[in-house]
Amino acid sequence: MTSPDANLFSALRAGFPADLDTVAIATADATPLHYSWRDLERGTAMLANLLDSLALPAGSRVAVQTEKSVEALMLYLAVLRAGLVYLPLNTAYQRDEVAYFIGNAEPAVVVCTRRSFGWVSRLAFAAGCTHVFTLDDDRSGSLLQRAAVHSDRHAPARRAAGDLAAILYTSGTTGRSKGAMLTHGNLLSNARVLKAYWGWRPGDVLIHVLPIFHVHGLFVASHGALLNGSRMLWFNRFDPRAVIARLPEATVFMGVPTLYVRLLGEATLTRAACAQMRLFVSGSAPLLIETFDRFRERTGHTILERYGMSETVMLTSNPYEASAGERRGGTVGFALPGVGVRVRDDAGAPCPTGAIGNLQVRGPNVFQGYWRLPEKTAEEFSADGWFRTGDVGRIDAQGYVSIVGRSKDLIISGGFNVYPAEVEASLNELPGVAESAVIGVPHPDFGEAVVAVVVARPAGAPDAAALVAELKLRIANFKVPKCVFVVDALPRNMMGKVQKNLLREQHRDLFA
Ligand code: AMP
Repeated sequence: MTSPDANLFSALRAGFPADLDTVAIATADATPLHYSWRDLERGTAMLANLLDSLALPAGSRVAVQTEKSVEALMLYLAVLRAGLVYLPLNTAYQRDEVAYFIGNAEPAVVVCTRRSFGWVSRLAFAAGCTHVFTLDDDRSGSLLQRAAVHSDRHAPARRAAGDLAAILYTSGTTGRSKGAMLTHGNLLSNARVLKAYWGWRPGDVLIHVLPIFHVHGLFVASHGALLNGSRMLWFNRFDPRAVIARLPEATVFMGVPTLYVRLLGEATLTRAACAQMRLFVSGSAPLLIETFDRFRERTGHTILERYGMSETVMLTSNPYEASAGERRGGTVGFALPGVGVRVRDDAGAPCPTGAIGNLQVRGPNVFQGYWRLPEKTAEEFSADGWFRTGDVGRIDAQGYVSIVGRSKDLIISGGFNVYPAEVEASLNELPGVAESAVIGVPHPDFGEAVVAVVVARPAGAPDAAALVAELKLRIANFKVPKCVFVVDALPRNMMGKVQKNLLREQHRDLFA
């Protein structure tokens, strides 16, 4: 007996509305383009036929480093449709990084911009890849030219739930980036859970502003809209003012915390502007309580914060329905249906309710392992099959999960454990502090010393000595930073994550 088809593309397509001539995606450009569901159907068929015509071996990777565009989204869908493995690359990656990914993943097809074709194709050919196409965000490039001669009908490849759909290289704020292998089943189970949990409904319109090389924009946002047959208002780039102007046409917005801060920076963000909206989702990095509160005061909407990672797609979410509980700022909500989340100490023993420990997870969403790293993969799973997220957190008696930090960010100073997030929370409450990042740097006596990097509020920079004095009244002495630096901004990657590795590097020799 053959197993039922579990191709993610086919499942997403089943969510398209009956009338394929309605608008699926409208771009937010000055001269907007309107893509119907039929355009998506035909465009992905032509691209899938092009991929089929290359007669690639099963499991071939298609690596893509292009600017965001609707065509790039179609390429992702076409790779699923053809049963190949999609490998998106952050547009910020430079030559050495791309060389590493291409060498590591050995893609059969590489798609890049016309500008980068020279050096990318040399890297690809050197790694044995013979198919390099170009795609720019103005619909130019060889990919679409080549696809145009192919049929607009295509029978999606049959795939089992356990077949690979995508490899996402982790964003690498610590250590070298690893390829997380996600299956059709991982992605579809998560998309279905989120559709129900976040109450996707007919008439929803999603404002899509996130990059599509990352789990948040590619999977959470796009799958949500496609599976629900919902229109997307498509921004290739985030422009807070332009987004606010379009809120009255939309119902759902998904962003990373920095995007919310930028929206709040616009006077046009008002209750009236958000009157049609039903859901604002935040994730990928911690949302400051202050942003959460200010957004609620300004718009009347309570941001729903969720937590996930490349290896697992979404794990927890604050409730959508009020009957399931309040959306609690500073927490990432409850484990999603079907997902297990538990807290273990460093020896692997269960932690008491509310105690801080290592977050471990399991569920149909959890990835198959790191690409070509079986030993690293085995290390990251417990003996009873739970994935060690590397995040440190706690679960309270009601089931709300809070993230306290990354285990690799944990500072051990003079033998005491210091959780950066706790020190950051105390610092952020002090006058003059907009936000902060706390790191550990080598210290001859303490092993590591706690150091804080603080962003001042526009009203005036705080005095570092005064901050230290105030902290001494609030938290244990071993947690108080030995040094406080006041800066204009923290280094962040494109998903809004603070790059603590850069800060650690910068201050490495402070106590040498
Ligand atoms: P990535 O694989 O790039 O999506 O990064 C995943 C990591 O981002 C997680 O392991 C967390 O450390 C962090 N993260 C994601 N969502 C949140 C959140 N809502 N709050 C705090 N950290 C988060």
